[in-house]
Amino acid sequence: MNTIYLDNNATTAVAPEVLDEMLPYLRDFYGNPSSMHTFGGQLHRKVEEAREKVAQLLGVEPDEIIFTSCGTESDNTALMSAVESFPGRRHIVTTRIEHPAVLNFCKHLARKGYRVSFVPVNNSGQLDTDELLNAVHDDTVVVSCMYANNEIGNIYAIPEIAKALRERHILFHTDAVQVVGKLPIDLKKLPVDMLSLSGHKLHAPKGIGALYVRKGTRFFPYIIGGHQEKGRRAGTENVASIIGLGKACELAMKNLDEEVKYLTALRDRLETALLQKCPDSRVNGDAASRLPNTTNLSFEYVEGEAILLRLNEYGICASSGSACTSGSLEPSHVLRAMGVPFTAIHGSIRFSLSRYNTEEEIDKVIEVMPGIIKELRELSPFGKDKTQESLKCS
Ligand code: PLP
Repeated sequence: MNTIYLDNNATTAVAPEVLDEMLPYLRDFYGNPSSMHTFGGQLHRKVEEAREKVAQLLGVEPDEIIFTSCGTESDNTALMSAVESFPGRRHIVTTRIEHPAVLNFCKHLARKGYRVSFVPVNNSGQLDTDELLNAVHDDTVVVSCMYANNEIGNIYAIPEIAKALRERHILFHTDAVQVVGKLPIDLKKLPVDMLSLSGHKLHAPKGIGALYVRKGTRFFPYIIGGHQEKGRRAGTENVASIIGLGKACELAMKNLDEEVKYLTALRDRLETALLQKCPDSRVNGDAASRLPNTTNLSFEYVEGEAILLRLNEYGICASSGSACTSGSLEPSHVLRAMGVPFTAIHGSIRFSLSRYNTEEEIDKVIEVMPGIIKELRELSPFGKDKTQESLKCS
């Protein structure tokens, strides 16, 4: 049975071109770029070439890119750097729908005595930009707002927020982990101070990320040790993965416009058909302003986990907004922040596509899904009368 992989917001396949580019640096050229000898030292140039490619994708200067180990490290570094750089300020603004890499770090800072404003969203997961900007005080250290949400795909008004914060001289970080490689970003025109990205979301391997830090921004390293990354992130460089990330950025830049069109058409084909064929289903999020590859759908009166298990029998990989299967007892904080009813949260499924998905794969999902939903609803002892209590994870 072939796998139909529709969980690309969780992670993506390493592109064959990326793997080819990396392999020599795992197999043959294993030196340390900081070494004096040619065997290691020649790798320094390869790392710098990769940095140029990442910078090109974002429209920035190479020395504004710091390689990290992942998106989480980039997010943590940005926030930590902000609070270390402005020790007199004690307030942070973020949103309720951030990835845990930002959300939990902000909660950690709150336990250390910082005041954190978690700005809410509406039923469609949209942010009120004025509300976010009104949360900023004189002692705000940093505003951190994600560029697009990983669960529902909503895209936020980052250009507008960045411009307003620049005028007020407030540091602005955006978590663009789900955007880089999926949509064009030109940081020459977008005055964010720091931006996080992660390799494994754009067909590079896991374990490599980057943080963009605008020239002139105060910066304090999070990982302290050697002189790597010009003293901004210590630790021997993950050379092969850095080279892989460079290649992934080069590929993304080449094909971005066509990919956006391709993924939008494929996603809309899936979404339209499922909404039509499955009664009591709905889209979670802002249908008009979403990542091209993402749809989050709720099928009322069914458990998301049960849907995932049935899809899995057909080799179809997706993910659920009720996180009981993914090691957490809590249903999605994003859907809860949106006020999605419990019955709909528990039956929510995220499909996230990539350039490697085909129309045939999408048609297979369209073929099997209505039967799965109907069968599970018939099996359910609760059906439409299911109470909120009976839906809670135990
Ligand atoms: N931020 C967002 C929006 C994400 O979707 C993710 C991963 O799912 C991360 C941060 C964390 O990235 P990483 O897995 O590279 O640590």
